[in-house]
Amino acid sequence: MMPRCAIVGSGLSGFVTYATLRHGTPGRRGLEPAEIVVFGDEADPAGAWRPRAEAIRQRRMRSESDGHCYPTSFPGLAVREAARRASLTPLLRSVADRYRPTVTEFLGHVHLLRASCGWDESFVPARIERVRAIGGGFELDGYGPFPHVLLAPGHPGLALPPGLDDDPRGVHAYEPHEYARRVAVVGAGMAAATEWLNALAAGSEVVSVRRREPARRPLNVARPLFTKRGLASFHATAPAGRGELLKSFGAPSYPPGRAWDVPLARAACEKRFHVAAELDSVEQVICATGFKRGFEHDPLLRNLVREHDLETHERWIVLDRDSTVPGLTNATRTLSLAGVPGQWAYPAADTLVGMKYAARRFLDRVERCPTR
Ligand SMILES: Cc1cc2nc3c(=O)[nH]c(=O)nc-3n(C[C@H](O)[C@H](O)[C@H](O)COP(=O)(O)OP(=O)(O)OC[C@H]3O[C@@H](n4cnc5c(N)ncnc54)[C@H](O)[C@@H]3O)c2cc1C
Repeated sequence: MMPRCAIVGSGLSGFVTYATLRHGTPGRRGLEPAEIVVFGDEADPAGAWRPRAEAIRQRRMRSESDGHCYPTSFPGLAVREAARRASLTPLLRSVADRYRPTVTEFLGHVHLLRASCGWDESFVPARIERVRAIGGGFELDGYGPFPHVLLAPGHPGLALPPGLDDDPRGVHAYEPHEYARRVAVVGAGMAAATEWLNALAAGSEVVSVRRREPARRPLNVARPLFTKRGLASFHATAPAGRGELLKSFGAPSYPPGRAWDVPLARAACEKRFHVAAELDSVEQVICATGFKRGFEHDPLLRNLVREHDLETHERWIVLDRDSTVPGLTNATRTLSLAGVPGQWAYPAADTLVGMKYAARRFLDRVERCPTR
């Protein structure tokens, strides 16, 4: 059996896509492991994500009920936890968008799904540097051709503020670290807020270095954009407006609530939490400054754009609404982007829900291909 699909990137986006392809749609069998090749640096689909979540001591998932890797939204982790604990609480929380499984539970789910879906049979340890469009498909370095390819390379590296990349006091929030006696946390998003509380709990004095006040919202992306109507209005927005919207979702924010406010207010009263616009003399600087942004930072995507003259808008590759690359996708071949590079099609592409959006549309293309 010839592989028909290739996935580049063996992280959570690649994994969600794989599970979706294996499952298929109602009335049609999914693909066999021999029909799919997954290229990646490591076989563990949580291998890139886990150390980042561990570094900021993340205990619960940020995502809500649909934040899992199963190919269908239902039954998700809430239903399974409810059955296991013989309790309705996870279901009630899920209905109210308040169900957040623990990271341990999520990783257990990834482990079990990996073992049952054939992932390791399809995995090839290789880093792909070039995608070359040829008649009826794509060559990936020396591999292929494959009629259908989904690129899911993740974020192109951690971002550090200028001047801090070689400062011995500096560490990125997503790298392993402990907390010094006096700590500055640069940034004001979810990772920064998590680090304020971590450092305070470790007994540190915390200086929050920020250029602007963070917004308080439960998710980075406005909730209506997760609905069909909200997404349709996003797709109807002209490129300049769409770019501005995407930038606004990247602005610092963390959820509202007493769980954040009470410890910060208490620490401020004890003079252990201050806000500052500039760095002063501290022993440690934790950079909660996220990732580098844009296709230019990723050699695979940068080459793809240059060699195929793809349309871009600022830091984004322009995609069709189904997350495929226009010009390189037609009735017989598909090139899709999933994870953060897929933001032009789905603003929350770098979430488990967003990964499913790209994966389902990729499967749809594969199933409609006449040569299948
Ligand atoms: C701390 C943290 C917590 C998060 N929590 C949540 C959450 O609770 N819920 C949620 O929905 N989302 C969450 N996210 C967002 C998202 O789920 C993660 O960013 C996730 O890791 C994205 O998966 P990915 O596969 O796109 O990228 P990654 O997990 O980074 O995986 C990409 C993989 O592709 C490989 N790769 C890259 N380039 C190539 C190449 N050229 N050839 C071969 N392989 C390549 C990389 O080595 C890597 O293994 C969180 C993100 C972070 C950082």
